[in-house]
Amino acid sequence: MKKLVSVMAATVALTISLSASQILINNVNIFDGKNDKLEMKMNVLVEDNLIKTISSKAIVHEKGAIVLDGKGKTLMPGLIEGHGHLQMNGTSLADIENNRGWEELAVRSVAKAKMALMSGFTSWRDMGGMGIGLKKSIDAGLVEGPRIYPSGAFIGPTGSHADFRNYTTPNETVNDIQSAGGRLGMTFTADGVDMIKTGARQNFMQGATQIKIMSSGGVASAFDPWQLDAYSAEEIRAAVEIADAYGSYVGSHAYSKKSIIRCLENGVKTIEHGFMFDGDVAKLMEEKGAYITTNMHAFSPYLGEIEAIKSSPASARKAASAQKAFVNYIENVKKYQPKFGFHSDCVGGVESCKKQTDHEIYLSAKFLGNFFALKSLTSVNAEILALSGDVLNPYIDGKLGVIEEGAYADILVVDGNPLKDITAIGGNYKWFDAEPRDGVKVLRIIMKDGKIYKNSLTKGMKTNLH
Ligand SMILES: [Zn+2]
Repeated sequence: MKKLVSVMAATVALTISLSASQILINNVNIFDGKNDKLEMKMNVLVEDNLIKTISSKAIVHEKGAIVLDGKGKTLMPGLIEGHGHLQMNGTSLADIENNRGWEELAVRSVAKAKMALMSGFTSWRDMGGMGIGLKKSIDAGLVEGPRIYPSGAFIGPTGSHADFRNYTTPNETVNDIQSAGGRLGMTFTADGVDMIKTGARQNFMQGATQIKIMSSGGVASAFDPWQLDAYSAEEIRAAVEIADAYGSYVGSHAYSKKSIIRCLENGVKTIEHGFMFDGDVAKLMEEKGAYITTNMHAFSPYLGEIEAIKSSPASARKAASAQKAFVNYIENVKKYQPKFGFHSDCVGGVESCKKQTDHEIYLSAKFLGNFFALKSLTSVNAEILALSGDVLNPYIDGKLGVIEEGAYADILVVDGNPLKDITAIGGNYKWFDAEPRDGVKVLRIIMKDGKIYKNSLTKGMKTNLH
């Protein structure tokens, strides 16, 4: 009998959590995504999917609201991935191209999306390799994951960082033979202005919120030295022209200074990686209102352990030469303080991406400071998401990446103060030798769009899903 009663009580609690339109979290210290200090002893009322009231005084709530004791923990915006690849999940680009069919990639991307949400990422800018299908499924409540801003297929020229073919595959643009990546809508090989425009239009037609081009070479790909100056000024302008027509923007993979400058001069709004960032680039970025997002694990001594690099001697050699060439990056970012977005860029499976992302958070804070890293994970990445414009931005009812009245209720409640200790959001100094984890223990409440996906803080309150 006793057992039956407790089962009934649990059922009632679950029903309340699903139907309550207000959730009040009392007694929290707030990191708002923008300021370098916590607002102490605050209360936050969420109504439906937005933050309604923030106050140091008691907040009046409606009958039936869920009231949670925040126990003096830190309440902050959900994290935002500025450059990730949910559907790029194999051990290397060649592995994705040759060994993974569409259904396996789809299933793996679902697992990765759930892992991202349960690691505190409530929004995700997907910088290539994925269309809109997973996003639609998440928004419809079929599977769990962050809000997604997809870029559709990477657009790059023959032999570029976006070219997934094998050495023996006939040329894609003249033989009408596509790579698996091309057939699956992950890559689009485009030489010249007309094809680039077609690729960008195709992406927007299929639901992309921004365009990703490959204007320089990279490390993990087969045919392109990282120094490669892959797209001409007129080719970059072609992508920008189409993005402009949709009120959106272009982000470009650009390592070399020449490529970065060319992108900025021709209208690219986000420089991805941007390792040769310096004073000239900083000046131009400011003039153009542009952003940079960089994967800080490029500066880790363990970079060569990434499967995609370890499995290819050519990539390992490229990584070593790139690390040497980019030695001034961190000092320059500290000196010029650009608008910088967090960027973890993991192309592996769930387990390797958990470790890489935790370590990326740690490295961002270690190299650039906790406040800088936390802004990059919240308010700055939210500004980048908003560049997709009022027409294409799928989430326009409130701001993302900040704790303020009227903002989306994408909220974390965490142990400790991440401004002082980055492990409070899961940052880990270990990378490949990190212990396997399920969720992130220190993330006590994870809320997206006003729904609680995790609550390990208050007993007896069932959440929607966990
Ligand atoms: Zn990337």
